[in-house]
Amino acid sequence: MKRQRIFERDDYRCVYCGEQFPAEELTVDHVQPRVRGGDRSDGNLVTACGACNTLKGHRRLADFLHDVPSARANFFRFAVHVWPRLLRELREHTSA
Ligand SMILES: [Zn+2]
Repeated sequence: MKRQRIFERDDYRCVYCGEQFPAEELTVDHVQPRVRGGDRSDGNLVTACGACNTLKGHRRLADFLHDVPSARANFFRFAVHVWPRLLRELREHTSA
């Protein structure tokens, strides 16, 4: 199952708060939303806990990372499997 594979890849760790959770408390989040052309490839998917997913809400990821510095720090530390192109764009759009 794909979700499970993503969770295992990310060591069951939410990329936004950096904490580890059991699978039932985790969700798979799109780095680039599907409506903005993001696909379902592994490099566009990260593990997020329910609380962070709720906190992020409908904000674009770049806006969320800009608004929440701790989430930004954790994301760039733990989301190491995201496509380099996406990471580069996010760095550019969230730098202070
Ligand atoms: Zn979290």
